[in-house]
Amino acid sequence: MHNEPSQLIGNFLPEQYKKDALLEINHNYLTSQFFDYKEIFKRIEGVVLENDFTLGKAVDDFEKRFAGIHKAEYAIGVGSGTDAIFLSLKALGIGPGDEVITPPFTFFATVGAIATTGATPVFVDIEIDGFNLNLDLIEGAITPRTRAIVPVHWAGRICDMRKLRQIADKYQLKIVEDACHAVSATRDGEFAGALSETACFSFHPLKNLNVWGDGGIILTNSLELSKRLKLLRNHGLVSRNECHEFAYNSRLDTVQAVIADYLCDKLSGITNARINNSKYLDSHLKDVPQIQLHTRMENLKEVYHLYSFLCEKRDDLSIFLRSKGIDAKIHYPTPLHLQPAASHLGYKRGDFPISERVSNQVLSLPVHEFISIEQLDFMVQSIKEFYDA
Ligand SMILES: *Cc1c(COP(=O)(O)O)cnc(C)c1O
Repeated sequence: MHNEPSQLIGNFLPEQYKKDALLEINHNYLTSQFFDYKEIFKRIEGVVLENDFTLGKAVDDFEKRFAGIHKAEYAIGVGSGTDAIFLSLKALGIGPGDEVITPPFTFFATVGAIATTGATPVFVDIEIDGFNLNLDLIEGAITPRTRAIVPVHWAGRICDMRKLRQIADKYQLKIVEDACHAVSATRDGEFAGALSETACFSFHPLKNLNVWGDGGIILTNSLELSKRLKLLRNHGLVSRNECHEFAYNSRLDTVQAVIADYLCDKLSGITNARINNSKYLDSHLKDVPQIQLHTRMENLKEVYHLYSFLCEKRDDLSIFLRSKGIDAKIHYPTPLHLQPAASHLGYKRGDFPISERVSNQVLSLPVHEFISIEQLDFMVQSIKEFYDA
């Protein structure tokens, strides 16, 4: 994901390189976002002066705040979104010999977190409308070895968790939500974490709530799981000199927790801008016959980590938009069952037709909070120009 040229020529480049940048309407907006970095430096100074570097007060404060925002009982800050999923599965006792159901249309980390527990990822195809797991296909993939389901709330659109919970309960399966795209998203008023064992979030610089490096968090309503997760992230230590089980080092960094907490003040603004920009694009793209948007549903608060749609002549459109300085991107061009890393799982092309079709037709446009109406209009106009030609 990190070797596409568009990610290398963004706003974050030093001034002297900017003249070479082709792309003006970027997915990357970090320089604009952290124009007030000195305010954050002041808060970090407190951490330094207190020597409060590991699991410091800022981590506790942020965990409480993040849990509060998402109406969850407990939050456990960890090293990354990937670790959040991995440690959740570990805390649930999942490992070699177990099967975990997940979609093949996702970012590598979802499947990486499953595979590195020693469990076998079992793919189930997605729905064409919304790109989330097709819940009607799940029962067909359940075997006596199935232990858990890891749904992905693609682009910040929460899966039908009530229906998924019913299926999970029927077969006594655990649910670990990959909510890395879904900070502050809801379905029927419920946040990720409400109906699962855990919900996992990432604070990677390209996520909606983004820190200055890596970070992640786990939400749960189970006291027992929260205790186990706190052990697993910190060497299994119950106190300085007592280790309960040999485990990992995956703490949310205190400095990153300061930044995450600072961003919580801005979260509703960030989210609303994404929603408004996406609605604006929806209203202007819905009549373009070559583009297929998702059905928008009243009971969903989608947070548009990505604004993506299916389109005809995707590769040509993408090149055309890039030539106009619009950072149109493909998330993601190859579904995971066709990756070299999955070869031992025995899947082949054609096994997940919807994921394969989406990978060939999906395109994303930037909708972050620094995109202007003029830029949105320019994107719409450029797309229409492409199809009219
Ligand atoms: C970003 C992401 C992750 C992993 O998050 P990291 O913090 O980068 O480890 C997992 N799943 C999905 C769907 C993601 O987009």
